[in-house]
Order: sequence, then C-alpha cells, then structure tokens
Amino acid sequence: MKRKVLVIEGDGIGKEVIPEAVKLLTLLGDFEILKGDAGLECYRRCKEFLPRETLEKAEESDIILFGAVTSPKGVKDYKSPILTLRKTFNLYANVRPINNFGLLRLEGYLGKNKFLDVKNVDLVIIRENTEDLYVGFERELYDIAIADRVVSKKASERIVRFAFEYAKENKRKRVSCIHKANVLKVTDGLFLKTFYEVAKNYKIEADDYLVDSASYLLIKEPERFDVIVTTNMFGDILSDEASLLLGSLGLAPSANIGERKALFEPVHGSAPDIAGKGIANPMAAILCVAMIFDYIGEKEKGNLIREAIKHCIEEGKVTKDLGGSLKTHEVAEEIIKYVTNYE
Ligand code: ATP
Ligand code: MG
Repeated sequence: MKRKVLVIEGDGIGKEVIPEAVKLLTLLGDFEILKGDAGLECYRRCKEFLPRETLEKAEESDIILFGAVTSPKGVKDYKSPILTLRKTFNLYANVRPINNFGLLRLEGYLGKNKFLDVKNVDLVIIRENTEDLYVGFERELYDIAIADRVVSKKASERIVRFAFEYAKENKRKRVSCIHKANVLKVTDGLFLKTFYEVAKNYKIEADDYLVDSASYLLIKEPERFDVIVTTNMFGDILSDEASLLLGSLGLAPSANIGERKALFEPVHGSAPDIAGKGIANPMAAILCVAMIFDYIGEKEKGNLIREAIKHCIEEGKVTKDLGGSLKTHEVAEEIIKYVTNYE
C-alpha cells in the first residue's frame, strides 16, 4: 500500500515553498497525497487554526509535510497547530540538520558584504520534544513564579537511543550530549547518566558539553560537532543559534519523529515580509523531502536531493537570501533538472 502524506501548506511562504517540495516528493516517490488546511487564513475562513478534518487526515497519514503558519495577534488561548500535532501524535524527537553544503562564506542575516566565515558545517541537533520546562507546570506562589522541569529516565533513554541510532544509520562519528548537569544536578544529572549508559551499546564516540560552553563553540568551532543530543529547552535555543551558521533560514529543514508518524517542516516561519513575491528559498522545504526519503529508508533519494542542492548552491542558482536572483520556482526547476538527469 502507498504511504499517505498529508500536505499542509499553511500561510505566507508556506504556500510558495511547499508546492515546490511536493513536486520532488511525487517525482521521486510513490505516495498518496492528502491536503489539509491550517493556520491564520484557515482561521479567517472557518474559525479554527487546526480544523478537526485536518487532524483526522493527519491521523490516517504516515507522514505530514507542514509549511508554516502565521501566529495571530491578540487571540486568547491560541494553540499553535504544530504544537497540537506534536502532542497528539507524540512526536518525541526533533531533528535539525545544519548543513551549509560546503559554502565557506555566506552572505546571509549579516547583511551585504558581511560574511560569516564558517567552515564546512554539517551537524545534526536532536532535541527531546516532550519534557523539560515545556511540560507547562507553572504557578505563582504570592510573588514567586515557579516552573517545574521534568526529565524522565524513559524519555531520556528514548531520545538518546534515537540519537545513536541516527548516528549509526547516517555513518556519523560522534554523539555529544549537551546539558547543565553541574547546576541542574538532578534533572540533567539523570539525562547525562542515561546518555553514557546508552552510549555503551554503540561503537560511536560519545562526549558531553555544558550548554554555555557548547553555545560558544557552536559558532566558533562548529566542525567540533557531529550529532548533538539535548533536552527540550537547550535544543530549542541551540538549534536556532545553529541556523545562523547557514546564512539563511531558507536552508534549514526539520523533522519531528514519533513511534508511528513523522512530521517534516522547514525551520522558517511564514515570512510575511517576503510572502507573495515568489522569492522565498524553497530549499528548506525541499530538504524536508530529502528527510522524508531518509525516514522511509530510501536514503539514496535523499542524498540525490541534497546533491542537487549542493550543485545549485555551487553554481549560484539560488534565491536572493543566498545572494542569487532566481525565483522560488526556478530554484525548484534547477533541482528537478539535476535529479532527473541523474536518475
Ligand atoms: P513567523 O511569524 O511566521 O515565524 P517571521 O516574521 O518570524 O514569521 P520567519 O519566517 O521566521 O519570519 O523568517 C525570519 C526572516 O528570515 C525573515 O526576514 C524572512 O524573510 C527570512 N526568511 C525566512 N525563510 C526564508 C526563506 N525560505 N527564503 C528567504 N528568506 C527567508
Ligand atoms: Mg519566526
């Protein structure tokens, strides 16, 4: 039976980059594609950010490809569709590859003629997605505000094992645990201890860093890192930091993986500032498709897509964010041209 993929374009540039990504998905794979509505425009039409119908389609799908949604201003009790999907399907592992495809100097966030002189960056951040300070146990006691941090043995083991399995499958050399166990002795103490227990079962290098030092080294010496595994909040912060190494958010894909379902989304948001102009970089969305092929065990297709992207970057066939002048659909066409010639 064909695998079902639910495609949710969402708002803004989600509507521009996801259709390009779907072209690669259907060109290289054999899927049943469903379409789902979500986000701010959807809310304006039907008063729901994530309609029940979309959730039902997600339930019957194996894979979700999600664009981006614009968060509303001033809507009380707003719950982001992506958080709901992560929770509903217990997508416990967040995976963010940070790969600059060998580009040594990228003009990106830093503005014209300001280059981030980074080396060949190719690392992956794996973040626990269900626990930590994000469990939502917050309260006020008079004038003291308290948040509980939850780290369980079970979830720690699950995410660490996921990271080592990922390293093994992708022929990565090292897994680094990032934590603050010198201060958070109980919670991160448990996470770190579990890390080394699980590491014993693998023939892969294992080391660990304090989060403060790691956040410095991530920019200074990114080549030090291969696979990173960490708790929810540190992962949240470090993965945004690491995307700076790419020069553009338009190069950052991500996956949220659970026991029986996975959701893939570009890291960027709906980017209202460039939406509707046809200049959004579709590479992050297309890299999500590469991750989908990895996920279903068709790694050679994933690699082919990544090769095509590297080729386009080297040839300067890129959108404005990477210093080029191609439109969204033109970049996708170049990628399609490359993969069809090499098939
Ligand atoms: P949202 O509220 O939906 O998260 P945002 O305003 O935070 O939107 P992001 O999508 O997070 O915007 O993007 C931050 C910046 O990076 C914006 O200036 C945006 O134009 C740029 N950007 C993001 N994605 C891309 C892309 N795919 N191609 C080019 N530029 C991008
Ligand atoms: Mg944003």
